[in-house]
Amino acid sequence: MAEPKITKIEAIVFEHQIQDMGTDYNGFNQVYEKGSVLNSQQCIVRFHTDTGVTGEYPSGPAERTKHGLGMMANYLLGKNPFGREKIYNDLKRGLRHTDRTAISIADVALWDFAGKVYGVPIHQLLGGWRKTIPAYASTYHGDENGGLSTPEQFADFAEQCYDIGYRAFKIHGWGDAPIAREVANVLEAGRRVGGKMDLMIDPACEYNTWVDALRVGKACDEAGFLWLEDAYKDGGVSMFGHQRLREKIKTPILQTEHVFGLEGHVDFIVNGGTDLVRVGVYEDGGITGAMKVAHAAEGFGLDVEFHGGGLPHRHCIAAVRNTNYYELGLLNPKVSGTKPPIYSPEFTDELEGVDANGHVAVPDGPGLGVELDWDYINAHHVETVTYE
Ligand SMILES: [Mg+2]
Repeated sequence: MAEPKITKIEAIVFEHQIQDMGTDYNGFNQVYEKGSVLNSQQCIVRFHTDTGVTGEYPSGPAERTKHGLGMMANYLLGKNPFGREKIYNDLKRGLRHTDRTAISIADVALWDFAGKVYGVPIHQLLGGWRKTIPAYASTYHGDENGGLSTPEQFADFAEQCYDIGYRAFKIHGWGDAPIAREVANVLEAGRRVGGKMDLMIDPACEYNTWVDALRVGKACDEAGFLWLEDAYKDGGVSMFGHQRLREKIKTPILQTEHVFGLEGHVDFIVNGGTDLVRVGVYEDGGITGAMKVAHAAEGFGLDVEFHGGGLPHRHCIAAVRNTNYYELGLLNPKVSGTKPPIYSPEFTDELEGVDANGHVAVPDGPGLGVELDWDYINAHHVETVTYE
């Protein structure tokens, strides 16, 4: 029997706007800013095959997807769309000097293709473990504009999330802020919702020094936080620095969001650099690569936590035992419509997207499991780039 082939790839680009969204001190962190509008171009990638079945993936920012497909398309055209392991390994080697995150664009689309061929959701192909997933509310960074501008506003928002159903809340603190306010934020959250919500903080590598990380870590100990993540400006990659931090605080730390790929994760674990293992479909080579990391962590007796939301993570987490939460975000009490409404609101990661128990649903259709809203996508269409 002849092997099937990938015959054509399309990047379908459409516009999305977020109202009342700006950026903070250096233009990188998105934060609440009344009256500002954040414009972006988003992308659906579509893989055609000679089987007549396609694979589709809402792959996020269009520039990133077009850049990735520009590097990979010549290699991918003519390949077997079922050959995900071969494609993962070839691209891992082929993109070693550029950007291995591009692997995820191809890999997820090909998992969607496989699910559609077999007529089952991806989580079933991976091996099912659970039907719904506990989610944490993951905030936007703190702002200076009256959205999440004080420890009291963060704690008020945590209580609002609790009332919706969330039983876990993660703070992204302020950019370039006094460390005393970060410490106060941790302690206030602990006072207001500690004991009834799991609390986490992710400074997203903003703190200037290891000592600042230690100060906030000690506050996390006092407030009973579940984890401290990517605290300081080592960029999240120092095994030695985090091993030393682990010696000084009791709160578990969560590293490896910024260590891309299986081997680097295993090195980080064996060198004692983390308690919980961060993994992501985008960062670690698609669903194929992320599941390798999840199972490697399982072999060390550790838990993984998936970075960010999105359909691929719902499928992965539904099929992984050693993980605790789905990251639902980013959220700010004064901002809505942060994700393009291209499939059912049940799956689009907005504030109200959990049930009364704080769980999210896992799509049960074939492949990624949702119906894309082509009326919306076509109404906001910018261009379609074709590779063939
Ligand atoms: Mg993070």
